Amino acid sequence: MTIMKNGDDIMLLEKLRETVWKCNLELPKNGLVKMTSGNVSGRDPETGLVVIKPSGYSYEQMKPEDMVVVDLNCQVVEGHLTPSVDTDTHLCVYRQRPDVFGIAHTHSPYASSFAALGKPIPSCLTASAMIGGEIPVGGYVPIGGEAIGAEIVRKIGQSLAIVMQNHGVFTIGKSPQQATKMAVEVEEIAMITHLAMLRGTPIWLTSDQIAETFNMYRDQYGQK
Ligand SMILES: [Zn+2]
Repeated sequence: MTIMKNGDDIMLLEKLRETVWKCNLELPKNGLVKMTSGNVSGRDPETGLVVIKPSGYSYEQMKPEDMVVVDLNCQVVEGHLTPSVDTDTHLCVYRQRPDVFGIAHTHSPYASSFAALGKPIPSCLTASAMIGGEIPVGGYVPIGGEAIGAEIVRKIGQSLAIVMQNHGVFTIGKSPQQATKMAVEVEEIAMITHLAMLRGTPIWLTSDQIAETFNMYRDQYGQK
């Protein structure tokens, strides 16, 4: 569906398209994806529609108008390209988590190495507190359907990120920007944790230390 006005095409959710497009570009810029893998989506709080990256489409040639608008039942509402193969996963999370307005997915290597082991990413860095401490792991689920979304919702708890066994990373947030930032943070944390584990046994944070750092990020971090 394209809304026509005065003979000109008016795109739905122009601002959210632009935001989701920019967030998608952050994935290759931060070394989280190769070629066409990975995706970011965002949900519009007013209409409930979701904007997501097109499937198998190169980041270099992607424009805001190439983003696909879908409803929560995976029907394309507007877009000239096929949505990401992970769309069902994103929509399943949005349907069950009304607090989530942005989702990012990558196969970023350090975090995905924990996924390959079926292990959570333990917390030995204060930065992990902004994600919620230890990053949980979800069980193996074949890709391309709703089952991944259901497993994410089952296992992610209060965390903003999860590694899915044998697959990769999903992050959530109150906006596409927050989900994208978490995807960058997860990879950074996974890399440092991996390096620390090569050099010895890291000093793991206690739940009290994670909680006090979480409160600091919530109350004091950033510009007011
Ligand atoms: Zn994937």
